[in-house]
Amino acid sequence: MPLHKGHAESDERPLSVNPFYGEADPVSGMIEAPPKHRLPDGPTPPSAAYQLVHDELMLDGNSRLNLATFVTTWMEPQAGILMAECRDKNMIDKDEYPRTAELERRCVAMLADLWNAPDPSAVVGCSTTGSSEACMLAGMALKRRWAQRNADRYPGARPNLVMGVNVQVCWEKFCNFWEVEARLVPMEGERFHLDPQAAAELCDENTIGVVGILGSTFDGSYEPIADLCAALDALQERTGLDVPVHVDGASGAMIAPFLDEDLVWDFRLARVTSINTSGHKYGLVYPGVGWALWRDKEALPEELVFRVNYLGGDMPTFALNFSRPGAQVVAQYYTLLRLGRSGYRAVQQTTRDVARSMADRVEALGDFRLLTRGDELPVFAFTTAPGVDSYDVFDVSRRLRESGWLVPAYTFPPHREDLSVLRVVCRNGFSEDLADLFLEDLSRLLPELRRQSGPHTRDKSAATGFHH
Ligand SMILES: *Cc1c(COP(=O)(O)O)cnc(C)c1O
Repeated sequence: MPLHKGHAESDERPLSVNPFYGEADPVSGMIEAPPKHRLPDGPTPPSAAYQLVHDELMLDGNSRLNLATFVTTWMEPQAGILMAECRDKNMIDKDEYPRTAELERRCVAMLADLWNAPDPSAVVGCSTTGSSEACMLAGMALKRRWAQRNADRYPGARPNLVMGVNVQVCWEKFCNFWEVEARLVPMEGERFHLDPQAAAELCDENTIGVVGILGSTFDGSYEPIADLCAALDALQERTGLDVPVHVDGASGAMIAPFLDEDLVWDFRLARVTSINTSGHKYGLVYPGVGWALWRDKEALPEELVFRVNYLGGDMPTFALNFSRPGAQVVAQYYTLLRLGRSGYRAVQQTTRDVARSMADRVEALGDFRLLTRGDELPVFAFTTAPGVDSYDVFDVSRRLRESGWLVPAYTFPPHREDLSVLRVVCRNGFSEDLADLFLEDLSRLLPELRRQSGPHTRDKSAATGFHH
């Protein structure tokens, strides 16, 4: 979470209270205005407190118009009811809420099947707060396995993790927090994600694993997981090094099984030892849930698993935190049950169709060059076409905000820092109709942008944020 600073000024204006909200003080008819940065001395009546908080939130953006985030912004009312019913259940109390725990177990089993585990009964897995926690757990398992295998040299040897420079920030966190060297395969020319051969060449006896991303955050492209495994097979033949692969399927692990059934990226590949996904991205659940699965017990060292008995029972758990709401896991089970395979396929196909047609139409405007076309993740990235120099992607992002659209603009990582792009993430609920409105707004802006004498945005980092 953002690291906030405390507030220094002592006397500043309190929250402003609309006279209509007053119901407490019979003399003035007004409730006392609560301070902003100090715990109020006493209570505020619930209706006034509700109105004050509600009003504060009015200027938050409209989540449905947010084309920056991958995270679910719409669920059915029934899912909302179930979540409300479960908001008091603590996921960690497996013994007190055995049925919630059972639904979590069923979700893991369904995902093991969906990701083609050769022996689903051997799979171990758990829910998490999102892919970031899932990646921390998967990375820890890789590191511990490596340490066990290299007990004679570790500590002393410095472990490393190989991955594309396009990895999501959670992998940089993992390497920083757990003191693992990040070995990054750079982008090259028009290749915006990991190259299998280059990844294999970065591996040595201290490599704990290679991360392949199914669905790069930067442009929505799938990394070539099967080729990566083949390159590592060849490496093993040459050198004897046996390097496991973790697939970060935060988005794609809930897209590819439904729309790209012939793509082999999952547990069908013997080298893939673990996979994560974000239930709250294309798993179609509101924020707060992710999943991590390991092929078998060998892939997840037993010594990382904790058993506590002071809540009753003796359920093994693997997690960074302890208490966590059960509602998201229940909502995930609901969605899996509700949609089934063909339902998920229909939803994801619709989303992909919207992304592809939007990408084509953006290209047809003539001012832009597409990097991706929405045919892998339903995400596409584009930049200004050669010869467009009166404005840049940061201007486009800023001007789109005027009509309520949140479309991030950002620069690419090393070797392609010269490249700045806009990225559109299509999600369930972003309809063809909304896409029409978006295209109308974008087309309407172009004549004005073309008349600019040059790009306006000086401070690019402040222009827009890069999300997830
Ligand atoms: C979003 C994302 C993450 C982080 O997932 P959260 O669920 O937001 O914690 C990790 N990896 C990739 C590839 C992502 O797209």
